[in-house]
Amino acid sequence: MRVLFVSSEIHPLIKTGGLADVSASLPRALQTLGHQVTLLMPAYRDALAAASALGVRLIATHTIDGQHVRLLQTRLPRARNRVWLLDCPPLFDRPGNPYQGPDGHDYPDNAERFALLCHAAALLAEDRLGIGWRPEVVHSNDWQSALVPLLLQDVRPRPALVFTIHNLAYQGLFPAATLQRLALPARYWHPDALEFHGMLSFIKAGIVFADRVNTVSPRYASEIQQPAFGYGLDGLLRHRAAVLNGILNGIDDREWNPARDAALAQRYGTTTLGRKSANKRALQQELGLASDEGTPLFAFIGRLVEQKGIDLLLAALPELVRHPAQAAILGSGETASEDALAALAQAHPGRIAFRAGYDEALAHRIEAGADVFLMPSRFEPCGLNQMYSLRYGTVPVVHAVGGLADTVVDATPEALADGSANGFHFLTDTPEALLAAARRALALHADPEAWRRLQLSGMRADLSWRRSARAYEQLYASALADTAAA
Ligand code: ADP
Repeated sequence: MRVLFVSSEIHPLIKTGGLADVSASLPRALQTLGHQVTLLMPAYRDALAAASALGVRLIATHTIDGQHVRLLQTRLPRARNRVWLLDCPPLFDRPGNPYQGPDGHDYPDNAERFALLCHAAALLAEDRLGIGWRPEVVHSNDWQSALVPLLLQDVRPRPALVFTIHNLAYQGLFPAATLQRLALPARYWHPDALEFHGMLSFIKAGIVFADRVNTVSPRYASEIQQPAFGYGLDGLLRHRAAVLNGILNGIDDREWNPARDAALAQRYGTTTLGRKSANKRALQQELGLASDEGTPLFAFIGRLVEQKGIDLLLAALPELVRHPAQAAILGSGETASEDALAALAQAHPGRIAFRAGYDEALAHRIEAGADVFLMPSRFEPCGLNQMYSLRYGTVPVVHAVGGLADTVVDATPEALADGSANGFHFLTDTPEALLAAARRALALHADPEAWRRLQLSGMRADLSWRRSARAYEQLYASALADTAAA
């Protein structure tokens, strides 16, 4: 299949979150399965700088929405996919983050910036830039490219339109007057199209007009159809239930594999699990935790934002480390959370360590050195850290939502007996529930043979992008079959 994959971030060209990882790994895995997947992303200043090392050439110029644009072609490392960068300096030649200025505020012209991306994708889908390539499937991702299915719906013949929701919390909401500013037909100003409580919603265009809508885990796909997780879109998502499903993300095996991870004090695998303890000793030393192999070491890595359940962590940690246990925490985000974690670490020297900031190598060492990984997210579309933890034999304790519920198998007596258990669930987002699950983990940790079985079960799970890409292949094929029949 020929696929145009549209995204606002692609690792390693630019990244603010999980979308960038998916936008590199999924097209790469699909290409390996024999498909031709071309990516499209804005040529942000930093992305262009990163791409220049990989080689960039001009392949087309055009005027879109009155803007003169250039289409540049580059590649991704270790992949055969083409990457097209939409170059429009007035909109994209800006420092830093794709969405916000240095002051931390969203750019005031984000609607125009990402509408241009969507218009370019629609033109490329019809080969209107004269490149000599027409995709059969156009796959857009999150609100920034959600207008693509709307812009292509009346084209005949038209490609199959797939839209993926990576996080429903971000919807691309703009004032009503944006409709005219973007020169979108007035007929779309309707609750069944772009209108959302008096605002213009980009994400609704993807949900309403795509042939297939998916999210990044089956559980999240069903959760967002409920008011508690639906951000006001649950009704629309229930209406689209027949074309809505969930496909779990994979993890990058080259970057996250304890047998080959260059960041570790000692590499290990399923047959050399005993070597994991050298990583625990090294981590305790690095973070100033008491050197004690027998004390269970809990870890947390992530953005310090409400979604990640930081308040639950803060409330539970003092009690948890009394057991005794230790905790290693790495994260950056809201200042209040950083301050509270720093204060907690200061109050429990040798027991709780906190490092503020984004540190990829330390994240690897924590995954390898810890015994238990805590993930108390209030909601989690898929989540990566629990999958890294499974891979590293670091048993996850998770709030059973979204992708956490789909990847972590709770250590119930039945699951322990049949060997499928690989972690622990808690069902309500309270510190008490988190503590109760952590205590179940501590109890099992005291039984080395049972713990080892839990670790091995997680390490052997198939978390590959290959599995995930096969599911997308089927999704594309079913969307294509419908489009051909229409
Ligand atoms: P989200 O995309 O919501 O932030 P995920 O669990 O899907 O959450 O992905 C988070 C990714 O970012 C993981 O690869 C995680 O290891 C990484 N990460 C988050 N915060 C940090 C940090 N402070 N240092 C290093 N890596 C981090």
